[in-house]
Amino acid sequence: MHSHARALRCDAIVSAILQEASIEPHAASQVQLLQGSDVTVRFGGITALDRVSFGVASGTIAGLIGPNGAGKTTLFNCLSRLYQFSEGDIAFEGRPLVATPAHGIAALGIGRTFQNLALFRTMSVRQNIQLGGHCRTKSGYFSNALRLPRVRREEAALDEHVAQIIELLELQPVAETRVMDLSFGTQKRVELGRALASRPKLLLLDEPAGGLNHEEVEDLATFIQRLRDEVKITVLLVEHHMNLVMRVSDHVHVLNFGRTIADGPPQEVQRDPEVIEAYLGGELEDEGNDA
Ligand code: ATP
Repeated sequence: MHSHARALRCDAIVSAILQEASIEPHAASQVQLLQGSDVTVRFGGITALDRVSFGVASGTIAGLIGPNGAGKTTLFNCLSRLYQFSEGDIAFEGRPLVATPAHGIAALGIGRTFQNLALFRTMSVRQNIQLGGHCRTKSGYFSNALRLPRVRREEAALDEHVAQIIELLELQPVAETRVMDLSFGTQKRVELGRALASRPKLLLLDEPAGGLNHEEVEDLATFIQRLRDEVKITVLLVEHHMNLVMRVSDHVHVLNFGRTIADGPPQEVQRDPEVIEAYLGGELEDEGNDA
């Protein structure tokens, strides 16, 4: 498709997703969508997170970085309620997350992707993305069994929403293909689509650039920024690909051995001596450039 025509088409799709989502767009602001204070997680003798406090402002992209074993995945798993924290608090839209079980997180407005793809490999792209949207449907067992009008309306709305996501992610040519028959890069886009189908206010991306080639990372950077700017989704990104994190993030939080060592705008964090030291003597700017 001609690039100008394609950009216009994408704009139309993004507006449609916003209307469909019936979620108030987040104005970029200092309102904290997510706030953690003194979060501590212990595994036996290991303190994976040691009194970590952080905030993710509504309408922004926040980067969470740190060397291997720093505690990034542990923090993500606390946000998804997969791990319990032994001390501290995490609040989403001002409400404590601890009150919500793991299966209620998506309905609350938190979507996530996983480091190792968690897709149904024998199901099609469309079916996988559709599954992501089911947490937003309200019909119960009986209304589903009786095919009540509300169920049909919900299904039609979900089908339309999924079609828009497929188009936005340029997955139309493979929409009916089984996930297992796709390249890794395309599978990662499907996982992103599935997370978007739950109409998240906050999207947690766990190493989205892992295993992607240079061109795919470029596309990903553009796409993440479009999510913030046009779909108005707040993004928390865990990533080893420094170039990507520093380019797209408004704010970067750095962990090392479970502790916060820096927290600020990417330009500041990149110059922080403790961060440079943690990344083994100044390799921060180069690390992961084309990983
Ligand atoms: P990577 O970049 O390698 O994914 P990370 O920053 O995500 O690392 P975590 O996976 O959160 O780091 O690990 C933090 C620490 O907690 C590590 O010492 C790890 O071994 C430990 N850890 C994480 N999960 C568990 C668990 N389920 N049981 C025991 N220890 C764990």
